[in-house]
Amino acid sequence: MPTILASNPAAATCRRRVLVVGAGFAGAVYARTLADHGYDVDVIDRRPHLAGNAYDEQTATGVRVHRYGPHLFHTSMEHVVRWVRRFGEFVPYEHRVAALLPPSPDERARFAPLPINRTTVSLVFNVPLPTETDMAHFLAAQAVPCDAPRNAAEHLYSRIGATLTDLFFRPYTQKMWALDLEDMDAAVVNRIPLRLDTEDRYFPADTFQLMPRHGFTALFANILDHDRITVSLDTAFAHALARGYDHCFNSMAIDEYYNEDYGPLPYRSIRFHHREEAGSYALGQTSVVNFTDARAYTRQTDWSRLPGHAAAGPRKTITLEQPCDYRDNAMERYYPVKTSDGRNDATYRRYAARAAHEPAMTFIGRCGMYQYLDMHQVINQSLKGALDWVKAAA
Ligand code: UDP
Repeated sequence: MPTILASNPAAATCRRRVLVVGAGFAGAVYARTLADHGYDVDVIDRRPHLAGNAYDEQTATGVRVHRYGPHLFHTSMEHVVRWVRRFGEFVPYEHRVAALLPPSPDERARFAPLPINRTTVSLVFNVPLPTETDMAHFLAAQAVPCDAPRNAAEHLYSRIGATLTDLFFRPYTQKMWALDLEDMDAAVVNRIPLRLDTEDRYFPADTFQLMPRHGFTALFANILDHDRITVSLDTAFAHALARGYDHCFNSMAIDEYYNEDYGPLPYRSIRFHHREEAGSYALGQTSVVNFTDARAYTRQTDWSRLPGHAAAGPRKTITLEQPCDYRDNAMERYYPVKTSDGRNDATYRRYAARAAHEPAMTFIGRCGMYQYLDMHQVINQSLKGALDWVKAAA
């Protein structure tokens, strides 16, 4: 276990002493890399636990639940896998998602694979599509051509047409982001690939699709288990505290650090509704089901379908996700809001330019850099950032 202090560490003045704000992936990767290179590292986190939004825990009935929604590790970056495997065993898990469609005329629930593939399109339009060429021709007939899509709506219309866009993306995006597709950056929906074949994995392009055998929290405990690292939970960042260090790597929200001087950087947050169901309960065949309709929830996770998460017994835990503004959820920042006009990124750049004048402060991670990134991207970026900093400081 890492050394966990009950309160702020005394900030000793020492040449090789750094503060890391946040014990999520960005902070943990920085902390470990710097400690491995001989720095003394104090990690603080305002939450009472390690692992940031990847935090998982066991419920009273023994089910492993990710408190902040499902975190699924996937990447094609071998060095990232090599690095995380230093700290724990991983087991294979290929994620699949089904979208729950509006009921058919006979009122039976219908599920379609997501990302949209040939099976999905065949099911929605009730047409046979035996080959990829058939699928390509069918989509071409649906598509609304557009040379240079300016937003998520134009991007989707030009690839899959209005029917599929309005079924799979429009209501979901509205409740997830409180934005019309026309106001959203295409990069957000472009996270979901389009398949001409029948491939139904959520991350088909990634070579490694894995979960930590003993959970993310245990993985973080190992990452931070180092003689040169101390961890203080329940500890908020304070400017005075940071002054005692040679450098601070800060994963807090950059607009919060600067008291929102240039205006707030908006985030979407999620309310997680964890509830118990009878062991026989099932919604579809997949661990995650997305709701295409206008109900408040975007998706549901059945934890029993993830490796190592289920518990023996007559009940299982499921989690429903209800998006909301972060100001309505105790300022819990989950998703930076990427609009088609780039206005929030423009605000972020003002903060980043100001931060460039603070040589002893580096903003890191999703909230420090206002980026919508997956875990493997944060790990990769943080490994590189930490090593570059060590080299420059040598
Ligand atoms: N999306 C959608 N319908 C879906 C799934 C995703 O409209 O059934 C859109 C939505 O805007 C979402 C984005 O695609 O925010 C990215 O989805 P992803 O599953 O990658 O989101 P995450 O897992 O990061 O919450």
